[in-house]
Amino acid sequence: MYVRLKAFEGRPAARGGRGKDPVNAAMIRHWCEAMSDAHPAYRGPDAVAPPTMLQAWTMGGLSGHEGRSPAYEELTALLDAAGYTAVVATDCEQEYLRPLRPGDEITFDAVIESVSPRKTTKLGSGHFVTTRMDVHANGEPAGTHRFRILKYAPKAKSSGGAGKAKGAPARPRPVINRDNAGFWAGVAAHRLLIQRCGGCGRLRMPWSPGCARCGAPEWDTVEASGGGTVHSYVVLHHPPFPAFGPPYAVALIALDEGVRLVAGITGVRHDEVRIGMPVRLEFQQVTDGEGAWELPVFRAGPGAAGPPGEEG
Ligand code: ZN
Repeated sequence: MYVRLKAFEGRPAARGGRGKDPVNAAMIRHWCEAMSDAHPAYRGPDAVAPPTMLQAWTMGGLSGHEGRSPAYEELTALLDAAGYTAVVATDCEQEYLRPLRPGDEITFDAVIESVSPRKTTKLGSGHFVTTRMDVHANGEPAGTHRFRILKYAPKAKSSGGAGKAKGAPARPRPVINRDNAGFWAGVAAHRLLIQRCGGCGRLRMPWSPGCARCGAPEWDTVEASGGGTVHSYVVLHHPPFPAFGPPYAVALIALDEGVRLVAGITGVRHDEVRIGMPVRLEFQQVTDGEGAWELPVFRAGPGAAGPPGEEG
């Protein structure tokens, strides 16, 4: 099987692809609004496109692209036939070779770069497939977009029925990466750390690698006092997720420092959460099969208005 999969390495996934639109100000503006990225380099007569838009210029939309190479479909069909019917995107890497500016005409080629040996993951066993897309602007190399998926055989579902099986499923752990590792290290030490831009001093939450206002990559942290209010909230009824058990409320908390974060709310029934309610930070220990970890949550109701022990 692996020999057959390996034979796909180097075969084209897309050849002679052409961006549906040249790089343009409208798409840049929509992207920046969606990303809350107000960096001045992306506006005005000398605007460049955000580098992370690289793939956006190559996307085919609902109507797709013509001239797709059959190799990628053949590879996925082979994996499907071998029982690896599920797919999950795992990661992408981009390399930027030149800025993209409105008017640039985009072309691209993509190749199946590698197919991994069979790997066992938490989701099930399968093969990682990496595709590399080389993007050109007006014929010049502009960047590389590497995209990796896992095609895997889903594990058989336990026959416990929905939700009420013995041993409630564990709450999913946060995904910790290079950009947010400091935040979760703070939480583990019962400190809620807010990122502060080293360029303009703006506070930001959630953590990100650069400042959306001034672009500076430098930062330090300030510790949240723990006070805040409910800025908004939702009550989830559907879809049912066994680790949580709807209905339950998830709140957008406005911290006293002026930034907001999404968190669970405690000390109050889901139908009694209200906008403007004072809340106070707590840390909740969660235990799963791999040990214990900490989660910031916000307590509403009595005791939420001031630091613990302050009220009479
Ligand atoms: Zn800044």
